[in-house]
Amino acid sequence: MERKYISEIKSDSGKVIVGGWVSELRIFGGIKFIVLRDRTGLAQIVLPKKEVSKELFDLVDSFSKESVILVHGLVKKAEQAMNGFEIVPEKIELISKAEAPIPLDISGKIESDLSSRLDWRFLDLRTLKNNALFKIRSKTFKAVIDYFDSLDFTAIQTPKITSAGVESGAELFEIKYFDKKAFLSQSPQIYKQMMVAAGFEKVYEIGPIFRAEKSHTTRHLTEFTGVDFEMGFIKDESTVMDIIEGMLKHIISSIKKECEKELKLFEVELIVPTKIPRIPIQEIRKMLKEKGKIIPENDDLDAEAEELLGKIVKEKFNSEFVFATNYPFTKRPFYHMKPENDSNGTRSFDLIWNGVEIATGAQREHRYEILKAQGKEKGVNLDEMKDYAAIFKYGCPPHGGVGFGLDRIVQRMLKLENIKEALLLPRDPERLNP
Ligand code: ATP
Ligand code: MG
Repeated sequence: MERKYISEIKSDSGKVIVGGWVSELRIFGGIKFIVLRDRTGLAQIVLPKKEVSKELFDLVDSFSKESVILVHGLVKKAEQAMNGFEIVPEKIELISKAEAPIPLDISGKIESDLSSRLDWRFLDLRTLKNNALFKIRSKTFKAVIDYFDSLDFTAIQTPKITSAGVESGAELFEIKYFDKKAFLSQSPQIYKQMMVAAGFEKVYEIGPIFRAEKSHTTRHLTEFTGVDFEMGFIKDESTVMDIIEGMLKHIISSIKKECEKELKLFEVELIVPTKIPRIPIQEIRKMLKEKGKIIPENDDLDAEAEELLGKIVKEKFNSEFVFATNYPFTKRPFYHMKPENDSNGTRSFDLIWNGVEIATGAQREHRYEILKAQGKEKGVNLDEMKDYAAIFKYGCPPHGGVGFGLDRIVQRMLKLENIKEALLLPRDPERLNP
């Protein structure tokens, strides 16, 4: 007989083998209960003294919570039990005994702080809620791939050990690379543009991104998973926003469909976006001002402004999302394209979901001379960035793209308090373990 998952068992399944972790153990004089947990759910194992052998009845006393056991038993209908059945064992194998007490309470009876949970992450991940969370993350990952694949984008994997980035150098982790200095990649920007120029036209990458920012917020990590795409022959930045809209629709509708059971554990209602409002940042400043939040002409939206903006668009457009467009050139990297009639603006946007930025994108400047001049305006010498400059010298179509954080998407989707809950083993300025 083969082991079955708990979710596969019905009250008329007869003899079964189930295996998993001892989630609860209740020992009374005449009866003993084990709540068994596997990746699909919980099941009650019941041992009435009169119905099982003395040897088996006594064996259970040596079990501890979180030990791994294999139960051979008979399924019985039991209206009062959690899934309408319970299992009376004939034999139980103790596969791996857990030391007692376990260092983290995962019963849900005592709330553990996030730091302890992360210290003992593999135990913390055993809860059904965390199991559900990472199934949702996994399905999100798959939805992104399916979406880009359906549009015939090419998946690329670019180097994470680099000699420099195109953004400012402040956020780079320096590493020793034999006798040279190297950096961990803070963005695949250069490479995705390079692959557009390589003739792939439409590329996407899901991969690690490193940021040496000493941020202690609920939305920053030092290592996160980026979802980036870049495409050629666009009309302008609106083409990029159209693709993003399609991506979000696809992700959210897939999760609603494939993770119905898992979503119930998070008390969130996912709404598939229809048309995401696209509002120039200048307009947004006015909207914020009306609500008493003043953002000076050349300043970025701070966290408070993003949150307030989230509320305003929810009220005004009944949308959880908003594209803030046309950022001033002073706030954007030198390679963002300027609109023809606005030398202070850019063809760029941020995407805000429920009050937090989840992506930044733009049409890039593909005309070498203009790019060089824009660099100069920002103190960037394009001639010193030989690999980057070359992309634009030998035939490069108009193009644009965006960078998302997968962890932020999952955080916003499930309304998690801290981004660190959205990935397995988070890294922040203090945390390098486990
Ligand atoms: P923020 O203003 O929130 O710090 P950013 O504008 O510096 O973000 P970008 O360079 O625009 O970030 O990166 C693109 C996307 O990557 C962001 O919109 C966000 O979803 C994600 N991201 C950026 N930095 C981090 C980080 N430190 N931790 C987790 N995700 C991040
Ligand atoms: Mg940004």
